[in-house]
This record gives sequence, C-alpha cells and structure tokens, in this order.
Amino acid sequence: LGLDTLDFTVLCGLALAVAAYVAKDKLKRALVSGESLAVQSDSRDIVQALHDNGKNYLVLYGSQTGTAEDYAKKFAKELAAKFSLKVMCADVESYDVEGLNKLPSDVVVSIFLSTYGEGDFPDGAVPFEDYLAGLNEGDLENLRYTLFGLGNSTYEFFNGASKKVHKYLSEAGATLLGKYGEADDGAGTTDEDYLAWKDPLMDLLKSELGLDEHEQKFEPNFGYSELGDSSENANTVSLGEPTTQYLPGNQLTFSPDGKQTGPFDSTHPYVAPIVATKELFNSGDRNCIHADFDVSGSNLKYSTGDHLAVWPSNSNEKVSRFLDCFGLDPDMVFTLKPLDSTIKLPFPTPVTVGAAVRHYLEITGPISRQLFSSIMQFAPNEELKERLKELSRDKDDFAKEITIKYFNLVDALLYLSNGAKWDSVPWNFLVESIPHMQPRYYSISSSSLSEKQTISITAIVEQMANPVSDKAEPVTGVATNLLRHIQLSQNKQDVGSSTLPVHYDLSGPRGLFRTYRLPVHVRRSSFRLPSNPATPIIMIGPGTGVAPFRGFVRDRVKFSEQQPSVSLGKHLLFYGSRDENDFLYQEEWPEYSKKLGGVFEMIVAHSRLPGKPKKYVQDRLIENEKEVFDLIAIKGAFIYVCGDAKGMAQGVHSALVTIISRGKNVKESDAAEMLKLFKSSGKYQEDVW
Ligand code: FAD
Repeated sequence: LGLDTLDFTVLCGLALAVAAYVAKDKLKRALVSGESLAVQSDSRDIVQALHDNGKNYLVLYGSQTGTAEDYAKKFAKELAAKFSLKVMCADVESYDVEGLNKLPSDVVVSIFLSTYGEGDFPDGAVPFEDYLAGLNEGDLENLRYTLFGLGNSTYEFFNGASKKVHKYLSEAGATLLGKYGEADDGAGTTDEDYLAWKDPLMDLLKSELGLDEHEQKFEPNFGYSELGDSSENANTVSLGEPTTQYLPGNQLTFSPDGKQTGPFDSTHPYVAPIVATKELFNSGDRNCIHADFDVSGSNLKYSTGDHLAVWPSNSNEKVSRFLDCFGLDPDMVFTLKPLDSTIKLPFPTPVTVGAAVRHYLEITGPISRQLFSSIMQFAPNEELKERLKELSRDKDDFAKEITIKYFNLVDALLYLSNGAKWDSVPWNFLVESIPHMQPRYYSISSSSLSEKQTISITAIVEQMANPVSDKAEPVTGVATNLLRHIQLSQNKQDVGSSTLPVHYDLSGPRGLFRTYRLPVHVRRSSFRLPSNPATPIIMIGPGTGVAPFRGFVRDRVKFSEQQPSVSLGKHLLFYGSRDENDFLYQEEWPEYSKKLGGVFEMIVAHSRLPGKPKKYVQDRLIENEKEVFDLIAIKGAFIYVCGDAKGMAQGVHSALVTIISRGKNVKESDAAEMLKLFKSSGKYQEDVW
C-alpha cells in the first residue's frame, strides 16, 4: 500500500490517540463484527478490485449532487442485508471500467446514474461515457445489468445520461435485467419511483441468481469502535472539520501564518470568510439573504454563471432532538474502519457523535419508506416493529401518516412511539443508513470580471410552519436558515430570539468557522454569456432566479467600462416577484441601466399586487411577443432561464413555443423542435432547480 506523507502523519496521530485511550482503559470494542480489513487492493481496475475483495455483485454509480450515490448505496445495502451478497458499491469515477467485458458472467452490474445539465453525464462519469460510446456490437454480450436513472422531467433531456447508457449497453449486447428505471425529481417522486422499480427487481434477482432470502439483517460496511469520551480528545479527533486536512494535528495544510492551504475543490472545501451579508427583503414569513464570500485566500476561481457549493451544518435544535431520540452521548468518540478497500470513509474519523450528527449527517428532510423497513429490526417493541412494517409496505398509508406531515426521521419515530426514545437503534446503523450531508448549490450573483475575489449568492430562506399541525416543529431548510443566522449575527441583530425557528453554533469545530466562515467550493457550469458581446440576450429569472443575471449584467457593465468602444447587443431581463417588497436588488438595476444606456432593459411582472391581475414572467414574454420574436428569430439572441424548474421554466418554454410558432407561422411542434436545437447548440440555456 502506498502511503503518502499525509496518510502517514494521520496514521501516526491516530495510533498515538488510540494508545492514549487504551492506557486510560477507555477503549471499548466495536458493537458489531468486522474488526479488520478483509483484503487490501490498490487496483483501479474494477474487475481486479472486485476479485481482490471477494465480491460477487457490482453496483456502480455516477452522481452529481449525491442522490444517485445515496440510492446506489441503499440498493447495495439491501442486497447484502436480504441475500448476504458480497456487494461492491463503487463510484465510476474511482475505477477504470475498461475491463467490464472480463467480469465473471455470474456477476450482475447495477448502474445508478444521474443526469446533469442538457442530458449530460455527471462530471466524474464522463470517462465512463467515453468508454461506453466506444464499444462495438457484442463487446459486452456476457454482461447482465440493471439500470436506474435519476433525472428531472422538467428538463428537455430527461434522464438523458441513463438513456444513453441503456442504448450503448444494449448495442454492445448486454442483457438488461428487469425494467430500465427512471426517477423523476421534477414530479417529486424520486423515492417512490425507486421503490416501484426496485421491489420487483429484487424478486427477479432472487430467482435469476438463485438467491436465498432472509429477514433483513444489518450488514455493516465499517468496523466500528468507540474510543471513550471526547474530554481529552486528541488533535486527531474530528469535531466536525470539513476534511482531515483541517485537523490541528495535521499541520501540513496550514502555512506558518496559520492560513489554510489548498488546493481547494469539492473534496477539500475552502473555509471562506463571509465578508458581508444583507437581508434583501423580509416580508413576514419570507426572507432573502445576500452573502459575499471572500476567496482571495484560496486558489478558488470562478466564472460568471458558475455555482457556489456551500457546506452547511445542522441547527442546535435538530441536533439535540436527534441525540435525545436515539439516546446518544454527543461526547463519545468513535472510529470507522472500512471492511474492504472498495469502501470509502464517509467523513473524517475518529469523530465525536455530536460532531457527526451536526456536521456530517442529513438529519432533517423527508424520509424514504425504505428506511422504515431497515430500521424496524431495531424497533423498541413488537408493536412498533409491526407498525413500521405496515408503513414501509403501504405507500398510501406512509404518505398520509408521514410524508404529508413533513416529518423528518426523528419526528416520525417520536410520533409513532408517542415520544418514547428509540435508544435501541445502534448508532453505527444510523451512520450507515442516514444520507450524509451534501453541499447546497447557489447560482453566483456576482461577476468574475467585476469581482474576481468575491463570490456573492442570493438565497431565499426555507422556512414554514408545519402545514398540518401547529404543534409540530416548523419545517426549515438547513443551509438557508444558517445563512440567515449569520446575517443576523453579523449585522448585530438578535440571534437568540425565540421567534427564530432554529439556532446554530456559528463558531464551528475548534472555532474554524468563527468570525463568519463557511466551507465552500466552486462548481463550473455551462451557463455562460455569449462570447460576442454584440449578441443580444434575453434573460428570464423571477425570484432568486435573477441571481446569475445580476452577475451577467455586472459583467457587461464592467466590460463596457473597460472597452467603451465595443458596442453591446440588447440585454433584456424579464424579472418577477410578488410585489415591490420582494423586488430583489431593486436599487441596483437603474444604476446598471444608466451605465449600459439603452442596451439594458428590464421588464417586471408582479404576481400579488393588490387590486391588480397576477402577472408572471411568461405573461410578460407574451405581452412583448414582437420584440422577443425579433430578438430570437432575426437578431439571433441567446435565451437564458434561471429559477424554479417546475412551474416557471415550463411556463417560459410554452410561452417561447407560442411566440415562435406565431411569429414564424409554423406548428407548435416545429417551434418546440427549434427550441430543442437551440438548447443543443447552447443558444437556450437553463439554470433551474
Ligand atoms: P434543505 O435542508 O435542503 O431542505 C430543502 C427543502 O425541504 C426546504 O424547503 C425545507 O423546508 C424542506 N424540508 C425540510 N424538511 C422537510 C421534511 N421533513 N419534509 C418535507 N420537506 C422538508 N436557491 C436559492 O435560494 N438561490 C439560488 O441562487 C439557488 N441556486 C441553485 C442552483 C442550483 C444548481 C441548485 C441545484 C439549487 C439552487 N438553489 C438556489 C437551491 C438551493 O441549493 C437549496 O436547495 C435551497 O437553498 C434550500 O437549501 P436548505 O439547506 O435551506 O434546505
């Protein structure tokens, strides 16, 4: 095994820490089996790694935001728990897949793939696409596979990436087992789509592979050890640091002046100072926050139109409710050891239980019906076990009892047990079954031309009273309430107020987030201004969908200051808000208009002006049909849409179809075809969520 200096330092530190605990007689052994690595394999060759680790089933995933990974892992866990299969669950990014044709014929491959952008593969799965595209007829005729795509039907190329996989694999002669499954996040049915695909497939695999099924039994992927409490925790114990590089025991990442050292990316976020925050509006139950992140201390670069990924942590209220429900000691230090080399550590360990709950687990958010079927083995009594079984099997009952009430896991369990604790559920089961914290993405609202070192975001705070019962906990988003908390604290407003639904620890692990910092990284997007500034553009972005257009317009303002002799094409922005109160950056637009002269124009739709009819951006498009058509069909304008993927982006698409079909006097289907071509050629770009 090749250990680099970093690994070696961390291992030495870990060994010392463990030795110290042993000396104090504090070392408690794992609750479950799996004390040592079964096999070590350094191979990047997927077939070799499968063989070296004694696996007999392969689950492959390509994930952009973590959802495909989450479902792949759930699927792998269920195969192991039900059939005792030795499943290797791997990110396609981590292995060379060229050898797939050498896979033993009794090994089935289950592929989980998300689609990104215009039918694209996730960034890390591009080499997988290249490999599949280069296959010849019959290359994979021994391969049996299952396929589940994760997509959003509001996008033109719904599940485009998994559809391509299906095509390439069938052309190469591989055999699909069961049905090709598709999840539709646009309809909000990802979990039910998965279950509807997975349940019959499990039966089919059972008969096809001659498997014995037994009652689900938790098969851990990690050896788990408890190392005592954190009162004397060593410098190598994580208190929630984003990566091990931030641990004080690891001096390598800190320069002598104490600064963080990079490079920073999605695997090693930069803990960026938030230099300014502002409440853009506060209209009773709704708030919107503008935040500026200073990235001058990092190698992070961005281009106008990119996304900022923000890594949040859970609120004090949700953390203590979770710890209390499962009877967990927040100070207990534990460590995880992958049981084979195909399994990656999900977060830095050793770590305290409290830090893992706060920083590394998604403890809020809707729950999957499948989680009930795996957690029931640990129910505190037979009655609750039976109830969990019923709910996990009955889609409608589950929707009525759990989903519609906006319950997260703890809310649901405490509701079912009438408030009695669930301390019979082992902590390491929770660690392996609850999704791990994912960053939240924000369309950058600054311009890299105008503000190279400052990245701004514009976030609407996700918060509402539970619509079913006012006695239930309010429903809150993790990252946006944290941003609001930072904004209030930074602007010297009352953060202890009980009117806030949740409160956060802003100092972070060992004070790492003190004085307003959060871990971030930049994600490249393809949402880009045309390279020729004379090309006209139409921007459509209601609500926070205006974020990247603020960046676009600031970009053009800076450009025209730098190159006043270059003439710009028309920049037409369709913006929408409820009324004047939530009109974002209201005071800035006239300034931009002045600087850009007649080139920049803004057309606004308000949906809740008293005594006035509701107007949306799509209505304004139709009202300005002639100009919009002229810009698109005659002057070659680029079209940009940002914001709500469900209602707005579809409404805008229909309005554009109407405008083009009427303007060109062609059928709507032909106009839709034309827009499709615009999308493929990058003339019609969407940044919708
Ligand atoms: P989360 O914790 O992720 O919760 C998500 C939603 O679920 C919230 O509405 C929350 O109230 C609700 N919820 C929580 N618990 C439950 C439950 N048990 N049952 C049902 N619902 C529940 N947003 C912006 O404001 N501005 C942007 O510019 C922007 N750009 C984006 C760009 C991209 C590419 C993407 C993918 C998303 C973008 N978003 C943007 C959305 C943003 O990433 C976040 O999803 C959003 O801010 C909510 O994050 P959160 O952590 O506050 O909520």
